[in-house]
This record gives sequence, structure tokens and C-alpha cells, in this order.
Amino acid sequence: MSEVTAISKFACPACGAEAVWTPSKKALVCPYCGTVSPAELKSDGTLVEENDLVAMLRAIPDDQRGWAAVRKTVKCQSCQAISVFDEKRVAQNCDFCGSPAIIAVDDVGTPIRPGSQLPFKISQSQVREDIRRWYASHFWAPNALGQKAMTDTLHGMYLPYWTFDAHAECPWEAEAGYYYYTTDDKGNRTQHTRWEYASGHVSRDFDDVLVPASKGVHPALLEKLQPFPTTTDLLPYDPGYLSGWVVEQYQIDLVQAAQNSRDRMDNMLRSHCSGEIPGDTSRNLKIAPDYSALTFKHVLLPVWVLTYTYGSKNYQVTVNGATGKIGGEYPLSWVKITIAIVIALIILGIFFASQN
Ligand SMILES: [Zn+2]
Ligand SMILES: [Zn+2]
Repeated sequence: MSEVTAISKFACPACGAEAVWTPSKKALVCPYCGTVSPAELKSDGTLVEENDLVAMLRAIPDDQRGWAAVRKTVKCQSCQAISVFDEKRVAQNCDFCGSPAIIAVDDVGTPIRPGSQLPFKISQSQVREDIRRWYASHFWAPNALGQKAMTDTLHGMYLPYWTFDAHAECPWEAEAGYYYYTTDDKGNRTQHTRWEYASGHVSRDFDDVLVPASKGVHPALLEKLQPFPTTTDLLPYDPGYLSGWVVEQYQIDLVQAAQNSRDRMDNMLRSHCSGEIPGDTSRNLKIAPDYSALTFKHVLLPVWVLTYTYGSKNYQVTVNGATGKIGGEYPLSWVKITIAIVIALIILGIFFASQN
């Protein structure tokens, strides 16, 4: 269960910077790394942390923090993403949303060092070609937009993820159904099901259940980029790999991350147990997993990000830097929000077509 620790100062468990107690969220919110950690403020002014992940983050020692290289850090005032890059690089715009409102942040907090990373395998030229084809395959994305996107800046980024490992002991019970058949005097065969109580037990180790900790890339796109070959291709962290690339520093909603990983493990256990039920069919499966040896690691995964604005809205096209899988947004896919925009764009499309 949750380890409960009383602390005297409001420090962020993820980076150690001074976090701000935010009563409305019942959480410590770190202004530096954005981590939201649940806590309860007692009447005597002490703060009680309510999440086992908080305790685990806090337990990570100093020698496992920092980038192990000199890096510059900026935070975007618009999308809140924190970008980390080579010291000599001068950034003018946010690499995630294009906003010029970026401010340098002093290294007041020391982020947890990534344990490992996936190297980039897909080159910039290949990514451009893939995105061009992706646009072409989407009828509603205007050609002009595709061309604009082709010349827009494409950034290779290492995005922050947490991977969760755990061991689960999971008893289950269900009703197992066995088919049997009857034949009436006219020779019609009918299928019936005989239900019997069944139970069993599954033990399972989970390895690398991924939870994203990015603010810069839209969450729906991150889903589309899955899977990453983390079980086969991860390399130990080496700052040399980051040279020349932008790294996004993690921002975590701890409640969400813990819940997210637990939900995924529950789902995997459910389908595992479902496969153990004897008979021809089943119903009313109930599982009661007990998790132990929960650990997590910080990993960096390679993603190409292309950002553009269309109208007043910000769109991203992202490509999995290890597999080439694309997840992208384009203006007309949002057309359902308002039919008026569709009509306007069709009229515009006809207008531009008539100019050629
Ligand atoms: Zn922090
Ligand atoms: Zn931004």
C-alpha cells in the first residue's frame, strides 16, 4: 500500500525544486518540471504524501539525476513543454508548438536521469517522404498544406516515458460453458451451453508497460505512435546520443501515470485469465490481482515532430523515430467540430483550384 511520509518542506518528488501546494488539486504542483503529486495538508501544516510513486521518486539518489552533460533548458509559456538541448544552440521558438514565448529555466531542479533510450532509426529525408505520402493518402488534407508542411521545420525529439514493471499474482473465477447438442424428432440439431464454475490462478511478470510523460506532443498522437520496440532495442542512457537532438523533460501527473499503468496491467491479466478458462465459452470472469515489486524507469523514445498552425489552431504530425509509424493531425479532420468550417474550406478549395 501507499507509503505515507510526512515532510517538512514542499519539495517536488520528481526534481527536488520547491513545489507549490495547490489546495484545489489537493496536490503539490511543481512550477519547474510540472509534476503533480497528490498530497494532503494536515492542520498542523505538515504535508502527507498519498501515493507510493511519490515515495519511489523521492528515493531516487542524486547520482541518478541530471543529464550527465551540459544542456540548456527552456520552458514554453504556451504549451508548457520543457525542452532540453545542446548548450550552444539558440532556440527562438518552441519545437512543439512554434510559440516564441519560451523562457530559459535555471537548472534548479535536477531531473531523474533516463535509464535508457531508443536510438533514431528513421532518417529526416525518409520522414519527409513518409509525411508527404501520408498527406497524399488523406483526401481532406489540402495539397497546399502538405507542401507547406514539407518545408516546415521537422524536429527529432526524444520524448519522456515511464515504464512500469511489476509482478502480479492473480486468482480468477468464471463460469465455463460447455456446448452440447440435442436433436429433435425432425432431425434439427440445437446447441446448448452447460455452465460450470471454474477458477484458477495466474502469475505474471510485467515488463515495460509504457506511460508517456510528454506535455509537448498531443496525447492522441502518442497513442498512435505505439508500439515502440522497447523490449528489444533499448540501449543504456548515453548523453552522447542526445547531442544534436532536443530532449523533452518529463512532466508527470503521478495519479494518472499510476492509474494508467495499473489499468493496462489489469487488461493484460484479464485477457490472460480469459485464455485459461476451460470449455467452449465463458462468462462472468472476475480477477483479483495483487501487484508487488512495482518499479519504474525513465526512458527516452525517438519521435519526429512537425508542427504547423492553420488558422489559429496548432497541428502536429509525429513519426515514430524507431519504426516510422505516423500519427498526425490535419485541419479538415476536425471539420466535424463545425460544418461551417468545412463549407468555407471547400469553397476555398474550389477557388484555389480555379486559379490554377
Ligand atoms: Zn519538479
Ligand atoms: Zn510550446
